[in-house]
Amino acid sequence: MPELSALFRVVALANAILAFLFGATVFVGVNQQKRTKAHLSFLFLTTSVGIWSLAYYFWLGARSEEEARVFLGLLNMGAAFIPSTFFHWVRDIFSLSFHYARWWLIGGYGFALVFVLLGFTPHFVKDFHTLGGFSYWPTAGDLYWMFIVYYCVYLGLSIYFIGKLILTPSSPQQTQRVALIIAGALVITVIIGISNFLPWYKVTIWPWGSFLVPIAIFLFLYAMAQFNLMQMRTSLAQVLVLLMVGLAFTDIFSAEQWTEFTTRTLLFLLVLSFAFLFLEIYRRDLKRQIQLQKLTKDLQAANKRLQELDKQKTEFLSIASHQLRGPVAVVRGYSSLLKENAYGKLPPSAQEIVDRIEASAATMAQMVDDFLNVTRIEQGRMHYDMHHFDLGQLVSQLCEEFSMRAKEKGLSFSCAIARQPAQYPYYGDQVKIRQVIANLIDNAIKYTPSGWVRVSLCPGKGARQEYVITVEDSGIGIPPEEIPTLFSKFHRASNAQGANVSGTGLGLYIAKRLVKAHSGSIRIFSEGRGKGSRFVITLPALPAQISDDEDATTDD
Ligand code: ADP
Repeated sequence: MPELSALFRVVALANAILAFLFGATVFVGVNQQKRTKAHLSFLFLTTSVGIWSLAYYFWLGARSEEEARVFLGLLNMGAAFIPSTFFHWVRDIFSLSFHYARWWLIGGYGFALVFVLLGFTPHFVKDFHTLGGFSYWPTAGDLYWMFIVYYCVYLGLSIYFIGKLILTPSSPQQTQRVALIIAGALVITVIIGISNFLPWYKVTIWPWGSFLVPIAIFLFLYAMAQFNLMQMRTSLAQVLVLLMVGLAFTDIFSAEQWTEFTTRTLLFLLVLSFAFLFLEIYRRDLKRQIQLQKLTKDLQAANKRLQELDKQKTEFLSIASHQLRGPVAVVRGYSSLLKENAYGKLPPSAQEIVDRIEASAATMAQMVDDFLNVTRIEQGRMHYDMHHFDLGQLVSQLCEEFSMRAKEKGLSFSCAIARQPAQYPYYGDQVKIRQVIANLIDNAIKYTPSGWVRVSLCPGKGARQEYVITVEDSGIGIPPEEIPTLFSKFHRASNAQGANVSGTGLGLYIAKRLVKAHSGSIRIFSEGRGKGSRFVITLPALPAQISDDEDATTDD
């Protein structure tokens, strides 16, 4: 049955390609830093299987006894290392530690070396007999039994350790699963061994076991993948492409005519070029992916660090502001006593100084309050004191307070509260809403060197009942591209910094949070530098629920 031996030949070649391919892909594919002992022993194992299979292929093509002897020697060489490399790999993949582990390994490899030498002598291959289509099947020499004993001992050891892992209930599930996979590979290896050994002793069975070699190799690979030992760089796609190359290569050898041989060789070369192209594209893509992953990781770490720093900064701000509050209050208190002549009448020149001290202390108190408010918002500790009040009244009071300041600066100041409705009943935290509107009017006066400031209140035009407060001025305006940033902490427009007006850049940030907590909104309109600005607050008459911003720590 020569056709059958031809089939065995093709299978042997396919086995060799698979073994070399998978071994090399797993080993080369993994990052050098991530390479473990298991990768190395996996390479040893697959190489032994590869040598055995390749020699098998050439041996089946031998045309003389001499040729057959040489290839059988090589075949024995590969076979000699299979039990010890298998045992080695089992030890490494599970990181097993047992008594004399190293000596067991050295012993295994030592025996293998002895068998490599014996494999070329008549002690192993006495002579040949025919077995079906195999013209040069060896007859076992007088020492061949030693190899079988060694085969049984080392595979037996592997079976022992694998069995122990499967049967120990406390083994991690993953370990048990991988142990089961390797147990499957072991059973196959034993079957391969039996079906190959028996014909050496003239038992007439075919070495069918060789057909199972690909399954065993796939199981090895699967076990590695289960333990994540096949890294990102070794993808299934890569392995499959290489497999295609291998198959195309194998196909060449089953050609029976020259023309067939040439077309198959050309086909193989074509597949090979495509494989190169694919692997190159894949490699580049992967490199980019790895870089991207690294960048993302770095970015996440930096972001975490920034968040921590932000938190620390908030805490620092909170502590510092609390500490500042007392001394500022003392300065304000004494300056107002001085102003009221509690310590005797002051000369007019000193009066002016005291006025300045009082104004500066008031600004400082406002700043401290702002800092404290920021920390409260960020820590979700802002307290809202809700009650009913009239928004119309609040706006008109504020207008009264600020109109003096506007006039002092030479600005025309107007306040328009629509008469319909007569009242503006509102439910919210009066102090906070006052702070928001006051901040807008204060800004309007601050950022308007000359011209006018207008404040208005009217009912909203939408379906739900809401109030619209507008604060408009003819001042320095805001560059439109900077408008979205103004609600962020410490952000000031470029023209404000140049206008010689001091500020912290916190007022609008706080205002937006407070209005949002009342379910309202605040919008800014400006046509640009020098063209004035318009701030519009919309407040629903009955805020659904006071909500402290869940995104309070993010600047929007
Ligand atoms: P501050 O006034 O203390 O700087 P705010 O948060 O109240 O902080 O305002 C943030 C920025 O918005 C100001 O620095 C300024 O650039 C801009 N801004 C606010 N109101 C006006 C306005 N009425 N006209 C022009 N720019 C304004």
